[in-house]
Amino acid sequence: MQGYKTDFPLLMQDKTVYIDNAATAQRPKCVIDAEKDFYTCHNANPLRGIYELSVQATENYENARKAVRDFIGAKSVQEIIFTRNTTESINLVAYSYGLSNLKKGDEVVVSIMEHHSDLLPWQMVCRQTGAELKFLECEKDGSLDLNKAEELITDRTKIVAVTQLSNVLGREYPIEKLAEIAHRKNAVMVADGAQSTPHIAVDVKKLGVDFFAFSGHKLYGPMGIGVLYGRRELLEKMPPFLTGGEMIESVSRTSAVYAELPHKFEAGTVNAAGAVGLKSAIDYVKSVGFEEIHKRELEVSAYAFEKMKEIAHINILGSEKAEEHNGILTFTVDNVHPHDVSEILAADGIAVRAGHHCAQPLLEYLGYRSTVRASFAFYNTKEDADRFLDSLSTVRERMG
Ligand code: PLP
Repeated sequence: MQGYKTDFPLLMQDKTVYIDNAATAQRPKCVIDAEKDFYTCHNANPLRGIYELSVQATENYENARKAVRDFIGAKSVQEIIFTRNTTESINLVAYSYGLSNLKKGDEVVVSIMEHHSDLLPWQMVCRQTGAELKFLECEKDGSLDLNKAEELITDRTKIVAVTQLSNVLGREYPIEKLAEIAHRKNAVMVADGAQSTPHIAVDVKKLGVDFFAFSGHKLYGPMGIGVLYGRRELLEKMPPFLTGGEMIESVSRTSAVYAELPHKFEAGTVNAAGAVGLKSAIDYVKSVGFEEIHKRELEVSAYAFEKMKEIAHINILGSEKAEEHNGILTFTVDNVHPHDVSEILAADGIAVRAGHHCAQPLLEYLGYRSTVRASFAFYNTKEDADRFLDSLSTVRERMG
């Protein structure tokens, strides 16, 4: 049974059981075709020329922006900035908003569950401004006690930055409630949507976030294209992050007038083909629908989760409930190094991730140095889960 795999050329020609989707997803044919079509039929530097091809390139690029706006429920295209990825989007907020709004005595609150991409930029701006970085810790099962957030977020807090879905535990966090707490204390709310956007329908207005970041490549789109949503009133006051071509109205020897939003934050030649590919990925995800995506992911990952519990010496991090994992199963095998586990799985044609998953503070907090992560997408099948489980159940024996 191939199911949705038939939409994905790589999955049809490669026999690997691909369950490293939290690292990057595979792309459906429509996304590959959309990028190819851009380069074959419409390629020119967008936003610059007035000749037909450049106009087409601009139209394609700006249509992609509209698709992103609608996908995440933003009010206007001025609030949608194309970046390279989530990492760049968060760095933009940290360096532009953070550097100009933080000072000694202020606090930035992040959660212990953050990917390094939503931690290091805040470490950096705190170091540069003298602000203090505070950590919102989860319970041992990965859940978040909002009373702790109420205590930690104070009048000194200027920025709260939390992931909407953990790349290690797969758990979704209550961004809407955190945003409400942050706003009550006059702080801005930044949400990392790198892992949530492939699994749940996002509405930035409903979430009440001020900034929201995600990557195309985890959402079945191309690598090298990402998005930063920012509330217009905030973006308008923020200085540019990168400067140079494309982001200006006019330049003199000693000064410049910056372009209007969103171009003020898109310096240099943009990744138009990537944006076009991302639009195609969004159209594809919408055509499948989040209900179907969720149903398929849960079916396969819940099956794997229950069977893993039956294999001796396996410890799964996070919730006891499969539905709280969003397809992400991170685990260890007693007395076998995670890299050995992943090597054995790889030898059997199964792609998982081993290591700290760019979330070292979380692993340390939970008492691990390294773990293995299997992350299922809606195209994974029960046969994929069985091949993974068969291989996993032999790991300890094969290690001698
Ligand atoms: N945030 C989370 C929660 C992630 O899982 C990842 C990537 O794994 C990132 C941020 C960084 O994404 P990117 O490498 O696309 O910038």
